[in-house]
Amino acid sequence: MNLALYLSLSLSVALFDLDVEEPNDNHFLQLELSHFQDVTILRPVIDESICTHCGICADLCEFNALAVLPSNVMVFNELCHGCGLCTLACPVKAIKEEKHGLGGIYVSSGSSLNLAFYEGILNVGEAIATPIIHEMKKIAFKEEREIIILDLPPGSACPVIKGLSQSDYVILVTEPTPAGEHDLEIAIEVVKELGIPFGIVNNRADVGNDCISQLAEKNGYTILLEIPHDTEILKLYSQGHALIGRNKRFDDIFANLWHEIRRRKIE
Ligand code: SF4
Ligand code: SF4
Repeated sequence: MNLALYLSLSLSVALFDLDVEEPNDNHFLQLELSHFQDVTILRPVIDESICTHCGICADLCEFNALAVLPSNVMVFNELCHGCGLCTLACPVKAIKEEKHGLGGIYVSSGSSLNLAFYEGILNVGEAIATPIIHEMKKIAFKEEREIIILDLPPGSACPVIKGLSQSDYVILVTEPTPAGEHDLEIAIEVVKELGIPFGIVNNRADVGNDCISQLAEKNGYTILLEIPHDTEILKLYSQGHALIGRNKRFDDIFANLWHEIRRRKIE
């Protein structure tokens, strides 16, 4: 979010908050958001009067969202990804599809910033985040801004993979603790598998130990930036303020980050 703000001082930028389970960029941006679109999926509804309980739909469902019992078919809605395969495959057309709302996408309006901002929100109680991320990426590909930044959730599960795919460059943010190192190693495996160049930002680099720099040195990974543990950053963060525009020192942090990314991309 701070990188997007910094770049929007001189470039046209679009920022997408894809952490749809708990988006928080706008706590700091404080932009007025308006509804852009709803995100729905199609879930199967079984017509038991036609179903022969052949079991084909359950065998094909990759997400184990169906269980065929001798007298009925159970649909586990929270596992269904709405792929439609069961409906296509049912030999007696016993499956209909029903629209189900998962969440929504919101967009900034009337901002003086040179920054378009999109936020995705998964409805409370829903478990499948990827369709919202998928829709947001479709919007991202149509955006004609010079820079598109996708802010992804932590970890390396499906929403992260969905968000990462087709990116030009990945910034992996970590901290120098055993948990940070462990999660970073998994994330690096994912990014390597996707074949995307990446660099590391080591946050609060002067607390914890030197595990991140050692990992980078051993494997030839790039550390783009080390952000120090800084009480002024913590204070601004806890008050809901972005860093950019508050102190030249902070602008310089993100100027360096951008400089390093461009240098590596060009190399
Ligand atoms: S494929 Fe169709 S007929 Fe077979 S169990 Fe599923 S819903 Fe029933
Ligand atoms: S729509 Fe796809 S994910 Fe949902 S139950 Fe059918 S096969 Fe499984």
